[in-house]
Amino acid sequence: MLGLNLDYPLLVSTIIDHAAVSYGDTEIVSCGRVETIRTNYRAIAERARRLASALSHLGLGQGTFVGSLAWNTHRHLELFYGVSGFGGVLHTANPRLPPEQILYAVNFTGYHTLFVDLDTVPLAEQLAPRLETVDRFIVMARREDMPATSLRNVLCYEDLISTGDPGFTWAEVDERHGCALCFTSGTTGKPKGVLYSHRGTVVSTLSVGGGNGWALSADDVILGMPGFFHCNGWAVPFLAPMYGCKLVLPGRRADDEFLHGLIVNEGVTVAAAVPTIWLGLLDHCRRSGQGLGRLQRVFSGGTAPPAEMIDAYMREYGVRFSHGWGMTETTHGATVSFAAQGLQHEEAVAAMRTQGKPLYGNEIRIVDEDDKPLPRDGKTPGHLQCRGHWIAGAYFRQPEIDLQTEDGWMRTGDIAMIDPDNTLHIVDRAKDVIKSGGEWISSQALEEAATRHPAIREAAVVAMPHPRWQERPFLIVVPMQDAVVSHEELRAHLLQHVPKWWLPDQVAFVADLPHGPTGKIQKEALRRRVAEGVIVPTPL
Ligand code: AMP
Repeated sequence: MLGLNLDYPLLVSTIIDHAAVSYGDTEIVSCGRVETIRTNYRAIAERARRLASALSHLGLGQGTFVGSLAWNTHRHLELFYGVSGFGGVLHTANPRLPPEQILYAVNFTGYHTLFVDLDTVPLAEQLAPRLETVDRFIVMARREDMPATSLRNVLCYEDLISTGDPGFTWAEVDERHGCALCFTSGTTGKPKGVLYSHRGTVVSTLSVGGGNGWALSADDVILGMPGFFHCNGWAVPFLAPMYGCKLVLPGRRADDEFLHGLIVNEGVTVAAAVPTIWLGLLDHCRRSGQGLGRLQRVFSGGTAPPAEMIDAYMREYGVRFSHGWGMTETTHGATVSFAAQGLQHEEAVAAMRTQGKPLYGNEIRIVDEDDKPLPRDGKTPGHLQCRGHWIAGAYFRQPEIDLQTEDGWMRTGDIAMIDPDNTLHIVDRAKDVIKSGGEWISSQALEEAATRHPAIREAAVVAMPHPRWQERPFLIVVPMQDAVVSHEELRAHLLQHVPKWWLPDQVAFVADLPHGPTGKIQKEALRRRVAEGVIVPTPL
């Protein structure tokens, strides 16, 4: 017999309605290029309805895709609700990607309407001649700020929503329908689309915001740093209204001084970002001698953060530094680290350095080359797979890609170990792990060991071909400003943290490393620099 609960679908419109009714006055601070807006959930919900209504009048209907090329602002927040609210799907294109990749994703999806920010108008102008289907641009600005542009068929966002009906009724679509589309950053081959359903988005947000995740309440103030185009901004557009949190949106800027100002002046309690941002902010606080205001919890993701940084945030600033693992294909963060109260400081740092445990709704396992499960013994590495209510089962319009195993688990492309208590340790991307004499050396573990040296700012390890061992590690180091580290000192330091046979055969010192749009070191670009002789290895 079926349960007798109401059959009330899990639609993302329920999130903004909840915020508008229960937390209508809660503030949203949005930093645009020409204006900083202070608004609230009541206004955002009404404007999202107007937007949905205006887009419907333009002829957009259920299942229509719409694109955005924009930063984190209140208008971009409205798009998530306004587009899904008429039954459409929002493709958040990443303005930081190379133009070729943006073009590929937009043309592959094939829609007519693209929303652009004032800042991204020049990029849209550059892309326009090669956009195959887009024939309407909506500039997310007020009438008085509209730029002169070579784009054709341009509408002003504020004009558009003023024509919409604030009483618009949200479309009642099936909760399994798509509401948002993100593409992977395409580090291997072409970007692949991940189409998120209403149901998966709502349920994932519930889990991510809960106690073992972001532990949110209406007392919190969230700084939404991750681009809305990266895993839906790590759920921030849904988390903040679902939990009634004040929301601070930084727009395009990500410089240390600006972020620090927002954290202190807006009373931010929770923030998420990639490790590079956290490193910069830490440097800024140490140099300026300033504190972090009300900041209590930070979440780092995208790559593993250095242990020294976790230690510094916890010890010097009293900020709880959690670290999580996830990927575009897992909708939002999938695991989060946790340090129980009462742990010694060193134990707490060690716990926070792991990728943590899966949040409810997401299961993990490791397998061998034949998809046969391997033990959770904390020492056997294997291919990481996951499954759950919001994990991608296939790529958008690419059913030929073998994402899922026969028994319904998603292949992540990561190598990991899992402890008996289900704590995850990411070892490496499968394509980055160094295969030396039949054994694996983790490039991530070597990088982490190198950055534990106080004079090393960043490090990357790539495989070099070797006649006997197949591959050996090559360490590329960015020293702290004006710092010098001798080869002997580096060897001695690494030997404290890794087995002798892991020691890189070669090293190079460089001024910077190439980073992708989501903060990851771009190993492909690095390998090219090595192949082209721009980075020259010397024996370690
Ligand atoms: P993306 O789809 O751009 O978010 O990239 C996902 C990939 O980033 C994962 O498959 C991992 O290889 C890597 N990644 C994400 N979070 C972490 C983390 N906390 N530690 C190590 N690698 C991570």
